[in-house]
Amino acid sequence: MASIAVCPGSFDPVTLGHLDIISRGATVFDKVIVAVLNNRNKQPLFTVEERVELLRQTTNQLPNVEIDSFNGLLIDYVKKKNANAIIKGLRAVSDFEYELQMASINRKLDESVETFFMMTNNKYSYLSSSIVKEIAKYHAPVSDLVPDIVEEALRKKYAFSS
Ligand code: ADP
Repeated sequence: MASIAVCPGSFDPVTLGHLDIISRGATVFDKVIVAVLNNRNKQPLFTVEERVELLRQTTNQLPNVEIDSFNGLLIDYVKKKNANAIIKGLRAVSDFEYELQMASINRKLDESVETFFMMTNNKYSYLSSSIVKEIAKYHAPVSDLVPDIVEEALRKKYAFSS
């Protein structure tokens, strides 16, 4: 049976920290489906379509990585895609409590789906999409934090604000 993992998140926008987790995950699993959560409770900077497109362009050199989006419960989406694993990245202790809760509830909902945690690459341990947006908003460079096309997309988004 092929091992298929779903890597869920907001990816608003994708950072080098996300790409590090995705590319390392792709060396372990036969297929990695990066799934952009369409969360109506959050006010994102990029639309789901824009986030999917940025992920597509920044992972196109990884043949076993697929980009998609989903609504609703993650575990339902995982089953729909015939996946058997969830990949999450861990940055700091602060990520741990929430991720433990999510992994536990997902196991309760479906025991056959396993959650795998990958430790952040040390150089990205401080990196989050929110931090990147905060910096880009004030027109400071984010070239060490995101791929060039993401920096360009951020520049366009914030061109007419502040
Ligand atoms: P955020 O908005 O906090 O950047 P997302 O919800 O888009 O994150 O995260 C998707 C997944 O990527 C989560 O499992 C998250 O822990 C992981 N992740 C995000 N940034 C990093 C990073 N710098 N290093 C490792 N994992 C990360």
